[in-house]
Amino acid sequence: MGLLLKLALLGFALYAAWKTLARWKGLYDRFVGRASPPVRTPAPPPAQPAAQDGPQFAQRPPPVIEDTRACAVCGAYVSVSVAKCERSGCPQP
Ligand SMILES: [Zn+2]
Repeated sequence: MGLLLKLALLGFALYAAWKTLARWKGLYDRFVGRASPPVRTPAPPPAQPAAQDGPQFAQRPPPVIEDTRACAVCGAYVSVSVAKCERSGCPQP
């Protein structure tokens, strides 16, 4: 086997090994994460409101949560606040 062919095969093997390692490192970085994540500048603190007019949670209305019950006739779940089932097609009078 010629020396030139050996060198060519060696170069091809090294190239293939390098490309394989680079691909696996790329997959590792994608799924596991880089060893040293890029340093991010900390976000500026939120601006304080000028006037304190009550606690923070009073600014947002509480979520509406209603109990439901199954309609005795059709089985659809309706709010307990309504008198009768309002489902279209319910045979309940
Ligand atoms: Zn019903």
